[in-house]
Parts: sequence; structure tokens; C-alpha cells
Amino acid sequence: MFARKKIPAGTQILEYEGKRITNEEADELESADPDNPYHTFFFMISAGMIIDGNQDGNDARWINHSCEPNCETEEDENGERVFVLAMRDIARGEELTFDYGLVIEGRKTAKLKAQYACFCGAPSCRGTMLALTRRSKKTS
Ligand SMILES: [Zn+2]
Repeated sequence: MFARKKIPAGTQILEYEGKRITNEEADELESADPDNPYHTFFFMISAGMIIDGNQDGNDARWINHSCEPNCETEEDENGERVFVLAMRDIARGEELTFDYGLVIEGRKTAKLKAQYACFCGAPSCRGTMLALTRRSKKTS
């Protein structure tokens, strides 16, 4: 996703939309699509549900991960909705990114890290789209 015009810092760009599903439903969806087990359209929210950007989702699901993003995600006060905000001024034509900080249950093995390897190219790239600390972010 690329900015069509200049976006000032702090702008709420769009909502991360999608159907609200439970963890169990997310697990079922993943096993139903073995060709694409690592897709990252799931976004875990504090309310305990997952937003599935693949169902009733919008363009927010196409925003790529970066370890040095220009956007961040913010929940509303109820922890039910997620918005993408500009962290800094974004120039026209710049790619929009946010840090997925993927949260995955269980041990973060080398194999798992390889499956979620990051190639964002940022100087501070941590080499993975997985969160290093637990927080409410995209999930898979
Ligand atoms: Zn990276």
C-alpha cells in the first residue's frame, strides 16, 4: 500500500476492518487452508477476539510489515477496533508499513522464525515479523 498524497504525522489513515472471529475459528481457518498456513490477515485485539482481514476486510490488510515502520496501530478504548495511524509525516508515494509484532503461541523456534522471516531491509531489521515481547498486535 502506498500513500497517494502526503500524510501528516498523527493522521488516522484507516481502520483495520474485518470479521471478528474467535481463536478457535482462526485455528480452523488456518487448518482449512494448508497451502497458506502463515498468512497474516489475523489481528488480535484486546477484547479477546481476532479481526480476520480476509473476511469483510479492507485495504488495511495489504499494509506490509516493517521493522522501521511509518505507521502504528492503535486500539479504541474498548479494545474492539484498530486504527492505522501515521507515526511521522509520510511522503506521497511512500509505502505504508507497520510493525506486525506477530504473537504466536508456544516457543519461538528457529523454524518458526524462518517461516516469519523479515526482509524489510531496515537498518534495525530484527529479522522476524514475530513480536519479541508479548503485546496485542497482528496474530497468525
Ligand atoms: Zn525487518
